[in-house]
Amino acid sequence: MRMKSCPRCEAPIDDSARFCSQCGAPQNEEAAEELDQYVKRQAKQVVGGSGGGSGAGGGGSGDVTAADVFGVAAEELTEREQLWRRGSYVLGYATIVVALTQITNPGAWLLLLGGIAILPPTRRLLGLPVGGTFKREAMAGLYVVFVVLGAALFFVL
Ligand SMILES: [Zn+2]
Repeated sequence: MRMKSCPRCEAPIDDSARFCSQCGAPQNEEAAEELDQYVKRQAKQVVGGSGGGSGAGGGGSGDVTAADVFGVAAEELTEREQLWRRGSYVLGYATIVVALTQITNPGAWLLLLGGIAILPPTRRLLGLPVGGTFKREAMAGLYVVFVVLGAALFFVL
């Protein structure tokens, strides 16, 4: 019986072994494929368990993307939406940073609220009770109101 060593952990393993007994690394193409299939099945179960009916049509290749696993496929972002999203983050963080540097002024707190309001995760959180995301136009409006009020306080005080 010939012995070889695992390419991953160097443990001596039987030449006919398909998986390393030490670290479980597949030792040939076939075993690697088998492991791959197993992982994909597990991933599918996770997705199925979280309530997203599979409903797969004609025998697909069984590809599981990160989107399937993490359930983000439902929200396909168009280019315009991504632009909105990026803009919201930049504007939100910039506003928060400015507010933090001026935090001794009461107006800064309104700027802070505005910055938080326009950040995309906030839209999602506020949208939870109604089962979706808050309209970005509404959040942008909220942002403008907070910022204008905050700026007004800066001038008044
Ligand atoms: Zn090994």
